[in-house]
Amino acid sequence: MSQATQQETVREDGVIQSVSGPVVTARDLDARMNDVVYVGNEGLMGEVIEIEGDLTTIQVYEETSGVGPSEPVENTGEPLTVDLGPGLLDSIYDGVQRPLDVLEEKMNSPYLDRGVDAPGIEMDKKWEFVPTVEEGDTVEAGDVLGTVPETVTIEHKVLVPPTSEGGDVASIEAGEFTVEEVIAELDSGEEITMHQEWPVREARPSATKMTPREPLVSGQRILDGLFPIAKGGTAAIPGPFGSGKTVTQHQLAKYADADIIVYVGCGERGNEMTEVIEDFPELEDPTTGNPLMARTSLIANTSNMPVAARESCIYTGITIAEYYRDMGYDVALMADSTSRWAEAMREISSRLEEMPGEEGYPAYLSARLSEFYERAGYFENINGTEGSVSAIGAVSPPGGDFSEPVTQNTLRIVKTFWALDADLAERRHFPAINWSESYSLYRNQLDPWFVENVRDDWPEERQWAVDILDEEDELQEIVQLVGKDALPEDQQLTLEVARYLREAYLQQNAFHPTDTYCPPEKTYLILTAIHTLNDEAKKALDAGVPVEEIIAIEAAPRLNRIGVQEDYAEYIEDLKAEITEQLRELY
Ligand code: ADP
Repeated sequence: MSQATQQETVREDGVIQSVSGPVVTARDLDARMNDVVYVGNEGLMGEVIEIEGDLTTIQVYEETSGVGPSEPVENTGEPLTVDLGPGLLDSIYDGVQRPLDVLEEKMNSPYLDRGVDAPGIEMDKKWEFVPTVEEGDTVEAGDVLGTVPETVTIEHKVLVPPTSEGGDVASIEAGEFTVEEVIAELDSGEEITMHQEWPVREARPSATKMTPREPLVSGQRILDGLFPIAKGGTAAIPGPFGSGKTVTQHQLAKYADADIIVYVGCGERGNEMTEVIEDFPELEDPTTGNPLMARTSLIANTSNMPVAARESCIYTGITIAEYYRDMGYDVALMADSTSRWAEAMREISSRLEEMPGEEGYPAYLSARLSEFYERAGYFENINGTEGSVSAIGAVSPPGGDFSEPVTQNTLRIVKTFWALDADLAERRHFPAINWSESYSLYRNQLDPWFVENVRDDWPEERQWAVDILDEEDELQEIVQLVGKDALPEDQQLTLEVARYLREAYLQQNAFHPTDTYCPPEKTYLILTAIHTLNDEAKKALDAGVPVEEIIAIEAAPRLNRIGVQEDYAEYIEDLKAEITEQLRELY
């Protein structure tokens, strides 16, 4: 149990005064803000969100139909906490961290019943603990005491709790332990287990937040190449229905080079989450061949689950992410979709009859969103290791209108913006990320990494591509007015090169076994192949070859097949030679 319960005296229970959807008002409840309470005869879980005189307002994380006045409300006196320890990975939770499979067994149905409680981690399972410190060693809060093989890929570090005073290790032993058994004792008398609890609304402590310098490589060309996110960075993916938010989030969850993935399905339709729940356990990590679930924790709060739990699932997710960060891991958290969370805030706020802000969202919408994204970052942990939490949120603006409050408020906070575009999606240009509207504020600070780890001229090649795409944008306006043939030949050529940039570089098929993941080197080499076409074509043009003949060379369309090549380096080298040869033959 948490410290709060031990310190507090026994609290008085209250009774329900009124119920309005997920909002319940209780009388005579002795409670503080954010206390967790059990509501009604069934003991539904809720959280105190407002106290006025002897009336306490509670948002309830479970369905409240049938719950009525004069039923009891019991206060736990503790804030909403998440259970931390080995067993978080390869797990699927609902919005209040109840493991879905455990609940399924208890309930004998895939639908969660109300008032059923289950711990977030398995309490009976024995874990093989190997100490990394010895008796007599001095340890402080956050220090690693030992390790547990949590999954085939992840070694769980057992940490001294962040709230500990530290001290000398009085006893520690290797062996098989459940998360509740004592694995170490300090000279202060403190007994340490593998189970920690942490209040979800509070960021876990860190030493310093650092400037991120490494990219979170996603294997998606347009992201890594043009709009990279840093490890410890923040990104938003806004887009209308059907533009590819979910596919993009799934691609990141599968291929991003993070150690740990926390995937929060927040208020999305059940079938989308079912897809994740069914697909993910089948998927393999492309680099290790191990099951992807071995590094993944899924939190599924579908649209048919109570709205208030959307908020708790976001906070639960970020707290789990911080916990693995504290072990020195790079964690990536995907939230799909933050709009559904914002809608939950709007619903609760309106039931509280608060003064509405823009489009009915509460005035604190922006503060809540930034509290969430601020917990991302590249950190020096309190134990001296470095770890990161990258936060990537999908936004679903109604009608795809980016001027609405959730998109606008998110834009002010995040540093990477991947704008999905309905027109591109309709033209089957995937990923439908609009290259004129999207941006990454990490681009320059990540360049040194790409220069060192991929190629020296990574930034120059990218700039070349960006310039061509910009030029295409301007030329397209003229083309619309006067037609393509009215353009000078060199500009017609630019349009052709830009077309290859769009088709061979920006487009990428998430459902093709090879194209789905593109290593940064391949991303770079595709650009150089198109650049070769550009340079050789210019030379041919200067030598007097008509643009139609240049465009018609046989080799050029092969650029569009690089994506699906596994032996891309060889293919690209051949292709460049062939393009050069065919163009030089023209003069
Ligand atoms: P949203 O979550 O924005 O409603 P989805 O992510 O479900 O949209 O994408 C809708 C459809 O677009 C997908 O079912 C798929 O057919 C197509 N799509 C999106 N991104 C890609 C991609 N990178 N490659 C291929 N198809 C894609």
